[in-house]
Amino acid sequence: MKQFKDIFDEFSWEEVKASILLKSAKDVEAALSRQHRTLEDFKALISPAAMPYLEQMAQLSHQLTQKRFGKTIQLFAPMYLSNKCNNICTYCGFSMNNKIKRKTLTGEEIQEEIQEIKRQGFNHILLVTGESNHTVDIDYFLKSIEIIKPFFANISIEVQPLSEEEYKRLHEAGVYSVLVYQETYHKEKYKDYHPKGKKSNFYYRLETPDRIGLAGMHKIGLGVLLGLEDWRTDSFFCALHLMYLQKRYWQTKYSISFPRIRPAEGVNIADYHINDKEIVQLICAYRLLNEDVEISISTRESELFRNNLIKLGTTTMSAGSKTNPGGYSVEEDSLEQFEISDDRSPREVADMIAANGYAPVWKDWDRAF
Ligand code: SF4
Repeated sequence: MKQFKDIFDEFSWEEVKASILLKSAKDVEAALSRQHRTLEDFKALISPAAMPYLEQMAQLSHQLTQKRFGKTIQLFAPMYLSNKCNNICTYCGFSMNNKIKRKTLTGEEIQEEIQEIKRQGFNHILLVTGESNHTVDIDYFLKSIEIIKPFFANISIEVQPLSEEEYKRLHEAGVYSVLVYQETYHKEKYKDYHPKGKKSNFYYRLETPDRIGLAGMHKIGLGVLLGLEDWRTDSFFCALHLMYLQKRYWQTKYSISFPRIRPAEGVNIADYHINDKEIVQLICAYRLLNEDVEISISTRESELFRNNLIKLGTTTMSAGSKTNPGGYSVEEDSLEQFEISDDRSPREVADMIAANGYAPVWKDWDRAF
Protein backbone atom coordinates (compact mmCIF):
# COMPACT_ATOMS: atom_id res chain seq x y z
CA MET A 1 0.00 0.00 0.00
CA LYS A 2 1.22 3.50 -0.82
CA GLN A 3 2.49 5.74 1.98
CA PHE A 4 0.55 8.92 2.64
CA LYS A 5 3.49 11.05 1.53
CA ASP A 6 3.31 9.47 -1.95
CA ILE A 7 -0.44 9.98 -2.16
CA PHE A 8 -0.12 13.56 -0.94
CA ASP A 9 2.60 14.35 -3.47
CA GLU A 10 0.31 13.38 -6.35
CA PHE A 11 -1.85 16.44 -5.62
CA SER A 12 -1.23 20.07 -6.40
CA TRP A 13 -2.57 22.61 -3.90
CA GLU A 14 -3.64 25.02 -6.64
CA GLU A 15 -5.44 22.36 -8.66
CA VAL A 16 -7.33 21.10 -5.62
CA LYS A 17 -8.28 24.65 -4.70
CA ALA A 18 -9.52 25.39 -8.24
CA SER A 19 -11.49 22.13 -8.44
CA ILE A 20 -13.32 22.91 -5.17
CA LEU A 21 -14.27 26.36 -6.41
CA LEU A 22 -15.58 24.85 -9.66
CA LYS A 23 -18.09 22.58 -7.91
CA SER A 24 -21.67 23.40 -8.89
CA ALA A 25 -25.13 23.10 -7.31
CA LYS A 26 -25.56 19.92 -9.35
CA ASP A 27 -22.45 18.41 -7.75
CA VAL A 28 -23.74 19.35 -4.29
CA GLU A 29 -27.15 17.79 -4.99
CA ALA A 30 -25.49 14.61 -6.26
CA ALA A 31 -23.34 14.48 -3.10
CA LEU A 32 -26.37 14.96 -0.88
CA SER A 33 -28.34 12.22 -2.62
CA ARG A 34 -25.67 9.54 -2.16
CA GLN A 35 -25.42 7.18 0.77
CA HIS A 36 -21.66 6.69 0.60
CA ARG A 37 -19.79 9.82 -0.28
CA THR A 38 -16.39 10.23 -1.89
CA LEU A 39 -13.73 12.88 -1.51
CA GLU A 40 -15.10 14.50 -4.66
CA ASP A 41 -18.44 14.78 -2.85
CA PHE A 42 -16.60 16.27 0.14
CA LYS A 43 -15.14 18.90 -2.17
CA ALA A 44 -18.65 19.78 -3.38
CA LEU A 45 -19.97 19.98 0.18
CA ILE A 46 -17.25 22.41 1.32
CA SER A 47 -17.49 24.50 -1.85
CA PRO A 48 -19.23 27.89 -1.99
CA ALA A 49 -21.91 26.19 -4.12
CA ALA A 50 -23.04 24.22 -1.05
CA MET A 51 -23.89 27.25 1.08
CA PRO A 52 -27.58 27.38 -0.06
CA TYR A 53 -27.86 23.72 1.05
CA LEU A 54 -26.59 24.31 4.56
CA GLU A 55 -29.90 23.58 6.25
CA GLN A 56 -30.21 20.24 4.44
CA MET A 57 -26.60 19.38 5.28
CA ALA A 58 -27.19 20.24 8.93
CA GLN A 59 -30.25 18.00 9.14
CA LEU A 60 -28.42 15.07 7.54
CA SER A 61 -25.40 15.61 9.76
CA HIS A 62 -27.63 15.68 12.83
CA GLN A 63 -29.36 12.42 11.83
CA LEU A 64 -26.14 10.57 11.04
CA THR A 65 -24.47 11.70 14.25
CA GLN A 66 -27.43 10.71 16.38
CA LYS A 67 -27.62 7.31 14.67
CA ARG A 68 -23.95 6.58 15.31
CA PHE A 69 -23.25 8.34 18.64
CA GLY A 70 -26.69 8.75 20.24
CA LYS A 71 -27.54 11.99 22.01
CA THR A 72 -24.29 12.31 23.90
CA ILE A 73 -21.41 14.78 24.13
CA GLN A 74 -18.15 13.67 25.73
CA LEU A 75 -16.42 16.22 27.94
CA PHE A 76 -12.70 16.58 28.52
CA ALA A 77 -10.26 19.06 30.04
CA PRO A 78 -6.88 19.98 28.57
CA MET A 79 -4.01 20.09 31.06
CA TYR A 80 -1.02 22.12 29.88
CA LEU A 81 2.12 20.64 31.35
CA SER A 82 4.69 22.97 29.80
CA ASN A 83 4.91 26.06 27.64
CA LYS A 84 8.57 25.52 26.78
CA CYS A 85 9.07 25.27 23.06
CA ASN A 86 12.04 25.02 20.70
CA ASN A 87 10.04 25.96 17.62
CA ILE A 88 9.10 29.21 16.07
CA CYS A 89 5.49 29.07 14.92
CA THR A 90 4.38 32.49 13.78
CA TYR A 91 0.82 32.04 15.11
CA CYS A 92 1.49 30.74 18.62
CA GLY A 93 1.96 32.47 21.97
CA PHE A 94 4.46 29.78 23.07
CA SER A 95 6.75 30.39 20.07
CA MET A 96 10.43 30.26 21.07
CA ASN A 97 11.03 33.89 20.07
CA ASN A 98 8.31 35.21 22.41
CA LYS A 99 9.88 36.50 25.59
CA ILE A 100 7.51 34.92 28.07
CA LYS A 101 8.01 33.21 31.37
CA ARG A 102 8.45 29.47 30.68
CA LYS A 103 7.09 26.87 32.99
CA THR A 104 7.09 23.08 33.15
CA LEU A 105 4.98 21.50 35.87
CA THR A 106 6.73 19.35 38.47
CA GLY A 107 5.20 16.13 39.75
CA GLU A 108 3.76 17.96 42.77
CA GLU A 109 2.29 20.67 40.61
CA ILE A 110 0.69 18.06 38.37
CA GLN A 111 -0.92 16.57 41.50
CA GLU A 112 -2.33 19.97 42.40
CA GLU A 113 -3.76 20.48 38.93
CA ILE A 114 -5.28 16.98 38.98
CA GLN A 115 -7.14 17.77 42.18
CA GLU A 116 -8.77 20.84 40.70
CA ILE A 117 -9.64 19.15 37.39
CA LYS A 118 -11.11 16.16 39.22
CA ARG A 119 -13.08 18.49 41.49
CA GLN A 120 -14.71 19.84 38.32
CA GLY A 121 -15.89 16.34 37.45
CA PHE A 122 -13.61 15.32 34.55
CA ASN A 123 -12.53 11.78 33.80
CA HIS A 124 -11.05 12.45 30.37
CA ILE A 125 -7.90 14.52 30.14
CA LEU A 126 -5.80 15.87 27.30
CA LEU A 127 -2.15 16.53 28.17
CA VAL A 128 -0.60 19.35 26.16
CA THR A 129 2.97 20.64 25.98
CA GLY A 130 5.05 22.86 23.74
CA GLU A 131 7.69 21.06 21.70
CA SER A 132 10.82 21.18 23.82
CA ASN A 133 12.57 17.90 23.20
CA HIS A 134 15.02 18.23 26.09
CA THR A 135 12.68 19.27 28.89
CA VAL A 136 9.44 17.60 27.87
CA ASP A 137 10.65 14.34 26.39
CA ILE A 138 9.38 10.77 26.52
CA ASP A 139 10.68 10.29 30.09
CA TYR A 140 8.83 13.38 31.27
CA PHE A 141 5.63 12.16 29.56
CA LEU A 142 5.91 8.71 31.11
CA LYS A 143 6.52 10.12 34.59
CA SER A 144 3.58 12.50 34.24
CA ILE A 145 1.30 9.73 32.97
CA GLU A 146 2.22 7.56 35.94
CA ILE A 147 1.01 10.34 38.25
CA ILE A 148 -2.11 11.08 36.22
CA LYS A 149 -3.25 7.56 35.33
CA PRO A 150 -4.90 6.58 38.62
CA PHE A 151 -7.22 9.58 38.40
CA PHE A 152 -8.46 9.51 34.81
CA ALA A 153 -10.19 6.84 32.74
CA ASN A 154 -8.98 8.29 29.47
CA ILE A 155 -5.70 10.08 28.72
CA SER A 156 -4.96 11.83 25.42
CA ILE A 157 -1.82 13.73 24.53
CA GLU A 158 -0.96 16.57 22.20
CA VAL A 159 2.82 16.94 22.19
CA GLN A 160 5.67 17.00 19.67
CA PRO A 161 5.74 14.27 16.99
CA LEU A 162 7.51 11.20 18.35
CA SER A 163 8.94 7.98 16.97
CA GLU A 164 6.87 4.82 16.56
CA GLU A 165 8.78 3.27 19.45
CA GLU A 166 7.97 6.20 21.72
CA TYR A 167 4.27 6.02 20.77
CA LYS A 168 4.33 2.32 21.66
CA ARG A 169 5.69 3.20 25.09
CA LEU A 170 2.98 5.79 25.60
CA HIS A 171 0.35 3.30 24.50
CA GLU A 172 1.66 0.73 26.97
CA ALA A 173 1.71 3.39 29.68
CA GLY A 174 -2.03 3.92 29.21
CA VAL A 175 -2.40 6.71 26.65
CA TYR A 176 -5.63 6.31 24.71
CA SER A 177 -5.23 8.84 21.91
CA VAL A 178 -2.72 11.16 20.30
CA LEU A 179 -3.62 14.43 18.63
CA VAL A 180 -1.33 15.86 15.98
CA TYR A 181 -2.44 18.63 13.68
CA GLN A 182 -0.66 19.30 10.44
CA GLU A 183 -1.57 23.02 10.89
CA THR A 184 -1.51 23.47 7.09
CA TYR A 185 -1.03 21.05 4.21
CA HIS A 186 0.33 23.89 2.06
CA LYS A 187 3.87 22.58 1.79
CA GLU A 188 5.51 25.83 0.69
CA LYS A 189 3.64 28.13 3.07
CA TYR A 190 4.20 25.67 5.92
CA LYS A 191 7.84 26.77 5.90
CA ASP A 192 6.87 30.42 6.37
CA TYR A 193 4.78 29.58 9.44
CA HIS A 194 7.41 27.26 10.88
CA PRO A 195 10.75 28.88 10.11
CA LYS A 196 12.76 27.33 12.95
CA GLY A 197 12.89 24.16 15.00
CA LYS A 198 12.05 20.51 14.38
CA LYS A 199 8.51 21.38 13.42
CA SER A 200 9.79 23.01 10.24
CA ASN A 201 10.16 19.50 8.78
CA PHE A 202 6.86 19.26 6.90
CA TYR A 203 7.11 15.59 5.95
CA TYR A 204 8.14 14.38 9.40
CA ARG A 205 4.94 15.88 10.74
CA LEU A 206 2.88 14.60 7.80
CA GLU A 207 4.00 11.04 8.51
CA THR A 208 3.35 11.25 12.25
CA PRO A 209 -0.19 9.78 12.18
CA ASP A 210 1.27 6.73 10.42
CA ARG A 211 3.74 6.21 13.26
CA ILE A 212 0.90 6.57 15.77
CA GLY A 213 -1.19 4.05 13.82
CA LEU A 214 1.71 1.58 13.60
CA ALA A 215 2.17 1.88 17.36
CA GLY A 216 -1.39 0.60 17.84
CA MET A 217 -2.84 3.68 19.53
CA HIS A 218 -6.64 3.54 20.06
CA LYS A 219 -7.38 6.92 18.53
CA ILE A 220 -5.68 9.55 16.35
CA GLY A 221 -6.79 13.17 16.28
CA LEU A 222 -6.30 15.24 13.13
CA GLY A 223 -6.95 18.84 12.17
CA VAL A 224 -5.65 21.98 10.53
CA LEU A 225 -5.31 25.42 12.02
CA LEU A 226 -8.22 27.10 10.28
CA GLY A 227 -7.32 30.55 9.09
CA LEU A 228 -3.67 29.94 8.23
CA GLU A 229 -4.36 29.14 4.58
CA ASP A 230 -7.42 28.54 2.38
CA TRP A 231 -9.57 26.45 4.75
CA ARG A 232 -11.31 24.53 1.94
CA THR A 233 -8.10 23.25 0.39
CA ASP A 234 -6.55 22.48 3.76
CA SER A 235 -9.68 20.59 4.82
CA PHE A 236 -9.66 18.54 1.62
CA PHE A 237 -6.12 17.37 2.42
CA CYS A 238 -7.06 16.65 6.02
CA ALA A 239 -10.02 14.56 4.80
CA LEU A 240 -7.71 12.77 2.37
CA HIS A 241 -5.39 12.01 5.27
CA LEU A 242 -8.27 10.77 7.40
CA MET A 243 -9.60 8.44 4.70
CA TYR A 244 -6.12 7.03 4.04
CA LEU A 245 -5.49 6.36 7.73
CA GLN A 246 -8.89 4.82 8.29
CA LYS A 247 -8.32 2.35 5.49
CA ARG A 248 -4.84 1.47 6.67
CA TYR A 249 -5.32 1.41 10.45
CA TRP A 250 -8.92 0.29 10.46
CA GLN A 251 -8.96 -0.69 14.12
CA THR A 252 -8.07 2.83 15.19
CA LYS A 253 -10.67 5.52 15.90
CA TYR A 254 -10.33 9.05 14.56
CA SER A 255 -11.30 12.53 15.60
CA ILE A 256 -11.23 15.86 13.83
CA SER A 257 -10.80 19.19 15.59
CA PHE A 258 -11.56 22.61 14.19
CA PRO A 259 -9.13 25.04 15.80
CA ARG A 260 -9.56 28.53 14.44
CA ILE A 261 -6.74 31.02 14.88
CA ARG A 262 -7.32 32.99 18.07
CA PRO A 263 -5.54 36.07 19.36
CA ALA A 264 -2.34 35.20 21.26
CA GLU A 265 0.83 36.94 22.37
CA GLY A 266 2.79 38.10 19.28
CA VAL A 267 0.28 36.74 16.75
CA ASN A 268 -0.98 38.50 13.64
CA ILE A 269 -4.25 37.00 12.48
CA ALA A 270 -3.85 35.94 8.86
CA ASP A 271 -6.15 36.68 5.91
CA TYR A 272 -7.91 33.36 5.50
CA HIS A 273 -10.64 33.83 8.03
CA ILE A 274 -13.35 31.16 8.24
CA ASN A 275 -16.69 32.45 9.49
CA ASP A 276 -19.22 30.65 11.71
CA LYS A 277 -21.45 29.52 8.85
CA GLU A 278 -18.46 28.07 7.02
CA ILE A 279 -17.38 26.14 10.13
CA VAL A 280 -20.88 24.66 10.31
CA GLN A 281 -20.60 23.75 6.62
CA LEU A 282 -17.23 22.11 7.24
CA ILE A 283 -18.42 20.10 10.25
CA CYS A 284 -21.47 18.84 8.32
CA ALA A 285 -19.31 17.97 5.30
CA TYR A 286 -17.01 15.82 7.48
CA ARG A 287 -19.99 14.05 8.99
CA LEU A 288 -21.53 13.40 5.57
CA LEU A 289 -18.21 12.00 4.37
CA ASN A 290 -17.52 9.93 7.45
CA GLU A 291 -20.13 8.65 9.88
CA ASP A 292 -17.61 7.34 12.40
CA VAL A 293 -15.25 10.25 12.90
CA GLU A 294 -15.52 12.06 16.24
CA ILE A 295 -15.94 15.81 15.97
CA SER A 296 -14.39 17.89 18.69
CA ILE A 297 -15.10 21.54 19.47
CA SER A 298 -12.88 23.47 21.85
CA THR A 299 -13.42 26.52 24.03
CA ARG A 300 -11.74 28.62 21.36
CA GLU A 301 -15.29 29.01 20.08
CA SER A 302 -17.85 31.30 21.68
CA GLU A 303 -20.52 30.23 24.12
CA LEU A 304 -23.40 30.87 21.71
CA PHE A 305 -21.71 29.18 18.78
CA ARG A 306 -20.86 26.09 20.83
CA ASN A 307 -24.45 25.87 22.01
CA ASN A 308 -25.59 25.82 18.40
CA LEU A 309 -23.02 23.21 17.35
CA ILE A 310 -24.34 20.59 19.78
CA LYS A 311 -26.93 19.30 17.35
CA LEU A 312 -24.93 19.55 14.15
CA GLY A 313 -22.46 16.70 14.41
CA THR A 314 -20.37 17.45 17.48
CA THR A 315 -19.43 14.48 19.66
CA THR A 316 -16.79 15.93 21.99
CA MET A 317 -16.20 19.24 23.80
CA SER A 318 -13.64 20.68 26.14
CA ALA A 319 -14.96 22.84 28.98
CA GLY A 320 -13.56 25.21 31.60
CA SER A 321 -10.23 25.01 29.75
CA LYS A 322 -7.02 26.66 30.84
CA THR A 323 -4.34 26.88 28.15
CA ASN A 324 -1.44 27.76 30.43
CA PRO A 325 0.67 25.38 32.51
CA GLY A 326 -0.67 25.41 36.05
CA GLY A 327 -3.75 27.35 34.92
CA TYR A 328 -6.22 25.43 37.09
CA SER A 329 -4.57 26.01 40.44
CA VAL A 330 -0.75 26.27 40.47
CA GLU A 331 -0.07 29.48 38.57
CA GLU A 332 -3.31 30.82 37.25
CA ASP A 333 -1.79 33.87 35.59
CA SER A 334 1.00 32.27 33.52
CA LEU A 335 0.83 33.00 29.81
CA GLU A 336 -1.83 31.11 27.90
CA GLN A 337 -1.31 29.55 24.46
CA PHE A 338 -4.40 31.27 23.07
CA GLU A 339 -7.37 33.14 24.47
CA ILE A 340 -10.38 31.13 25.50
CA SER A 341 -13.70 32.33 24.16
CA ASP A 342 -16.19 30.17 26.05
CA ASP A 343 -15.24 30.63 29.69
CA ARG A 344 -18.24 28.91 31.29
CA SER A 345 -17.54 26.41 34.04
CA PRO A 346 -17.67 22.69 33.16
CA ARG A 347 -20.90 22.42 35.14
CA GLU A 348 -22.50 25.23 33.13
CA VAL A 349 -21.44 23.57 29.86
CA ALA A 350 -22.83 20.22 31.06
CA ASP A 351 -26.13 21.92 31.98
CA MET A 352 -26.32 23.53 28.54
CA ILE A 353 -25.76 20.13 26.90
CA ALA A 354 -28.51 18.60 29.02
CA ALA A 355 -30.86 21.51 28.25
CA ASN A 356 -30.42 20.64 24.57
CA GLY A 357 -31.63 17.11 25.25
CA TYR A 358 -28.15 15.52 25.18
CA ALA A 359 -26.32 13.61 27.88
CA PRO A 360 -22.96 15.09 28.93
CA VAL A 361 -20.56 12.14 29.20
CA TRP A 362 -17.73 12.52 31.69
CA LYS A 363 -16.46 8.97 31.19
CA ASP A 364 -17.17 6.65 28.27
CA TRP A 365 -14.14 4.43 28.24
CA ASP A 366 -12.10 2.64 30.80
CA ARG A 367 -8.71 0.98 30.46
CA ALA A 368 -10.26 -1.98 32.28
CA PHE A 369 -12.70 -2.62 29.39
S1 SF4 B 1 2.27 25.67 18.06
FE1 SF4 B 1 3.26 24.13 19.33
S2 SF4 B 1 5.26 23.90 18.41
FE2 SF4 B 1 4.48 25.82 17.66
S3 SF4 B 1 5.25 27.37 19.07
FE3 SF4 B 1 3.23 26.74 19.79
S4 SF4 B 1 3.64 25.18 21.27
FE4 SF4 B 1 5.50 25.41 20.05
